[in-house]
Amino acid sequence: MKNNSIITLFLNDFLSLIFPQHCLTCNQILVESEEQLCTNCRFELPETNDFKDKNNDLYQKLSVYFPLQFASSYLVFTKLGKTQKILHALKYYNNPEIGEMLGRWYGNILISNGFENQFDVVIPVPLHPKKLKLRGYNQSAAFGKGLASGLHIYQEENGLIRQKNTVTQTKKKRMERWDNVSDIFEVGNKDIIYQKKVLLVDDVITTGATIGECLKVLHQHQPESLSVITIATPSR
Ligand SMILES: [Zn+2]
Repeated sequence: MKNNSIITLFLNDFLSLIFPQHCLTCNQILVESEEQLCTNCRFELPETNDFKDKNNDLYQKLSVYFPLQFASSYLVFTKLGKTQKILHALKYYNNPEIGEMLGRWYGNILISNGFENQFDVVIPVPLHPKKLKLRGYNQSAAFGKGLASGLHIYQEENGLIRQKNTVTQTKKKRMERWDNVSDIFEVGNKDIIYQKKVLLVDDVITTGATIGECLKVLHQHQPESLSVITIATPSR
């Protein structure tokens, strides 16, 4: 086993000499100081900058569920755009590192814009156990890990869990169409929520139904405040 991992390490180094790393979004060869994205693409990321407006679109959309302290999406998602390529790598190409990197960058942006001490704990929207098994990691938790580190707080990866579906097979089939909303969330550890400034994170906001369900459960455990950050939001 040990020998195998040494061989893999050696092989990876060797392969990167022959096959250099390419930028995820423009495919240009990366220089040594660059990671995943080239400098140009990094500075051309389609940021929403919606943190500058407390009453932004996401805030309006989600505060119909519960009073929120803050809501923000880092990037704009457009078809065939940079964000789509990045999310694709994050979700389907075994690349949690890009999520972590984005989280760290956004955490740094928020800190330098006065968001220090606004949050206590990051909790990711949990992945369905079947998907987690398939993918091996929760992409929202990858982003959350980086975000927590950028914000100088911590992430409780199992702060929320999805309850196992106990319905019968036929019912289950009917319910699969409602996959996102039929899952029941529960709190993993209520002590990390009670009287805490909780920051829920997700990858892309679509209908907001899943986030709404999570907020509902978190709200029941009396946090001091609730906030939401997503990696991306579709362009209007
Ligand atoms: Zn690039």
